[in-house]
Amino acid sequence: MNTATSATLQQSRGIERLVEGVATSDGAGVSLTRVLTGKLQRRLDPFLMLDAFGSDDPDEYIAGFPDHPHRGFETITYMLHGRMRHRDSAGHEGLLENGGMQWMIAGRGAIHSEMPEQENGVMEGFQLWLNLPAANKMAAPWYKDFPTTEIPEYSTANGATVRVIAGSSNGVQGAMTRETTEPVYLDIHLPADANFATALPATHNAFIYVYRGTVQVGDTQVAAQRMGILGNTPGADGLALTASEDSRLILVAGKPLDEPIVQYGPFVMNTQEEIHQALDDYRNGRFA
Ligand code: FE
Repeated sequence: MNTATSATLQQSRGIERLVEGVATSDGAGVSLTRVLTGKLQRRLDPFLMLDAFGSDDPDEYIAGFPDHPHRGFETITYMLHGRMRHRDSAGHEGLLENGGMQWMIAGRGAIHSEMPEQENGVMEGFQLWLNLPAANKMAAPWYKDFPTTEIPEYSTANGATVRVIAGSSNGVQGAMTRETTEPVYLDIHLPADANFATALPATHNAFIYVYRGTVQVGDTQVAAQRMGILGNTPGADGLALTASEDSRLILVAGKPLDEPIVQYGPFVMNTQEEIHQALDDYRNGRFA
């Protein structure tokens, strides 16, 4: 593992707002918490959705996500525990498990299934949707599976362990780099009282989601199962936080697109006409 030194910041961004996820069900009946909902798409542009799933009850996940389409954005699935089999209409197949990540650029259209491949035990992870710029929404679909060993990690002198899924942090380059939206996606593990800092452009929209423990950002405590939206304070050059107890969280940041967002289920385009076209293409077998 790499070692790195946490950034020394002029000023940390603070928590603008705490958000509690909404319990819902998707796919063929998978229980999950929708943390980033449609109402936050504009505020958190270029991110469209974050689902957190976590259960040790197979009845809550075993039905999975059978064949369904996507167009116009990217999906990043990060599996903390459990195994998910991915198959798509182009004949690709992959297995996502224990710390692995799949990055898919749906582009003009992909049809795939995401099905749990376990009958008991804990299934836990996240799916994040990242918008594509208008110019790239109809690009060729692409995806890659990153086993856990291909996700760069670093540790700091005070015990933080950071997995760099996308972008870079404290000099460590992540598994994926994307132009235009420049996403940063970190999984941060902190023992009690450890602190952590990383640089972020103030204009990039960003949030944290704590999935274990409690962390403190400025005067604000962010407890488990809470999202903290980071303010875009001019002059703030990153995020600094302290763990109140053993904690784990993700940090997600990206450069806003400032383009119209029109969503209809698994299609996210810029206009209503493009949504109608997506539905027509899907119904007439023109996806993949
Ligand atoms: Fe999907």
